[in-house]
Amino acid sequence: MALRTIREMGDPVLEKKAKVIKEVTPRIRTLAEDMLETMYETGGVGLAAPQVGILKRIVVIDVTEEQNEPLTMINPEIIEQDGEQTGYEGCLSVPGKVGEVTRPNRVVVRYNDLDMNEWELEAEEFLARAVCHELDHLDGHLYVEKVNGELRDASELQAVEDEEAGEEAEAGAGEEAGEASDAAEEKEQTQE
Ligand SMILES: [Zn+2]
Repeated sequence: MALRTIREMGDPVLEKKAKVIKEVTPRIRTLAEDMLETMYETGGVGLAAPQVGILKRIVVIDVTEEQNEPLTMINPEIIEQDGEQTGYEGCLSVPGKVGEVTRPNRVVVRYNDLDMNEWELEAEEFLARAVCHELDHLDGHLYVEKVNGELRDASELQAVEDEEAGEEAEAGAGEEAGEASDAAEEKEQTQE
């Protein structure tokens, strides 16, 4: 396995449509392994092949904190979607920035694994957001096209959230546990 270089916004490869994979060659397997390694190394929760300069329809995702549930999706396609969620997203190809994006709250994605077996995965909330974000990359789209308002500096947002979390902690005993977990949820940001 090897780390791959992540392409950044402005690189034309990020604006192109990736090609369908017809056969999983050893080269594709290596690509999948390298993408996972690169994603984990950079602290991302998802990575699409165009982000490492390869125009093929493959993405890797792992939204677990333990980084122990890797998903590798070949030729993924959203076949159902509903609901709505709005939250902050970041992208490994847009370093240091975040923006608020509205996405479906639930999607069903059909994809092939590395043995070309077909699967359908129902994803909600954070995972649904990650799936939508990664699939957009395969069609040459970045989340920055969909941001409500303006892109912000990730460090600036973190400072605001820390402040809010501090205020909530001071707010008193009542619903302490509930508030703390809400704050934790709001802190979830994607770097995809
Ligand atoms: Zn991304």
